Amino acid sequence: MSYHPKIQRLYLSRLLKMNFENTLSFAQQFDEKDPLKIFRDRFHIPQHNGNTAVYLCGNSLGLLPKSARGFVEQEFLDWEKFGVEGHFNAKNPWFPYHHFGRKMLAEIVGAKEEEVVAMNSLTANLHLLMVSFYQPKGARKKIMMEANAFPSDQYAIETQVKFHGGNPETDIIEISPREGEYTLRTEDVLAQIEKNKNELALILFGGVNYLSGQYFDLKSISKAGHVAGATVGFDLAHAAGNTPVQLHDWNVDFACWCSYKYLNSGAGGVGGIFVHEKHSANNDLPRFSGWWGNDEQTRFQMKKGFFPQAGAGAWQVSNAPVFALAIHRASLEIFAEAGIKNLRAKSEKLTAYLEFIINDFNQKNAEHELKIITPKNLPERGCQLSLIAKKDGKKIFEQLTSHGVIADWREPNVIRMSPVPLYNSFEDVFMVGEVLKKIF
Ligand SMILES: *Cc1c(COP(=O)(O)O)cnc(C)c1O
Repeated sequence: MSYHPKIQRLYLSRLLKMNFENTLSFAQQFDEKDPLKIFRDRFHIPQHNGNTAVYLCGNSLGLLPKSARGFVEQEFLDWEKFGVEGHFNAKNPWFPYHHFGRKMLAEIVGAKEEEVVAMNSLTANLHLLMVSFYQPKGARKKIMMEANAFPSDQYAIETQVKFHGGNPETDIIEISPREGEYTLRTEDVLAQIEKNKNELALILFGGVNYLSGQYFDLKSISKAGHVAGATVGFDLAHAAGNTPVQLHDWNVDFACWCSYKYLNSGAGGVGGIFVHEKHSANNDLPRFSGWWGNDEQTRFQMKKGFFPQAGAGAWQVSNAPVFALAIHRASLEIFAEAGIKNLRAKSEKLTAYLEFIINDFNQKNAEHELKIITPKNLPERGCQLSLIAKKDGKKIFEQLTSHGVIADWREPNVIRMSPVPLYNSFEDVFMVGEVLKKIF
């Protein structure tokens, strides 16, 4: 018997939930059996008031891989030893440095090596990519996005529209959840694409919405967007390293993400971009270019006339930020070792366990219900659960923090908790329930 993949996942998740127990011994047993348990020790887990924190904030800032210091130290050593000659003589020469982690990065977002590159930071990259891929013409000038997108994306899109002489009020179409709902229905997104098909220049969606934790159906959105004649790009800030993504196969035009959330590459760490290979040979795309995007063979000839290198690397502007990339490589190696599919398999269980623990609390404390607004359906979420308290949300969040559960708060009323499969344990999740019991 074979189920539709979505149904099978749902079915599995029910099975999993039925078997969960809200006890320490149960959580410890799950940890014992977890094939990825060795990876927790690869990270520094923060302290809170002298105890190891229950860190559920990898959606905001991933943790420090213990190996990162060594990667950065190598670059210090080579700088000390070689000075400028480190560009070619360093153990990991700086001239081609951005190539080193590329293959591992491509694996994480389902791309070919040449389709990705780590560069700049997220919002800067979003602008650079929109320069190339938002080209309003005649009636086809609108951008479609999800309502409640991360503010930086809203500002980027608003100002790009203005840059082209458009009116953000009319040229941006935001898709909102239905009355009384918190997340989008794919059918509604697709219907809006169809309805606006003659006016859409670009569809620019988040991968996982930062507030609700909803993982959008990127494959269907990409397909429908292309049928409508639009360009399709995704901001994967909350998806990269969290949910399974197949950018190449889904025929996505472009994407970008940051590396300091699930990719554990440090505050302000280097961003990443994807450009589908179908655009690689198009030298007519508008671009804001710099020397690092030029063909590598002729880059140092210092001649006039930008000639883009093949692949996403052509969008690089400045020389590679080696120190940020060193940390990034340390983290990418851990991902390569753990395997993105294995991480997803654990993530589904770990988050389902958190869902079970919260629901168990809710059953016993109806007056303090923490409503989970993230979809129940596994293909529609990553590791994050977003909770809305019946009352006193901010206070509950502060209480959680003071008891060493590091989650985060997003205005106006959302508590986000993200058990990350690389370094969180089932025991961490169990502790959330214990702390909630303590608070009330
Ligand atoms: C975290 C995040 C950002 C942050 O942008 P930076 O340019 O890295 O400061 C932007 N957009 C989304 C969707 C995010 O989740």
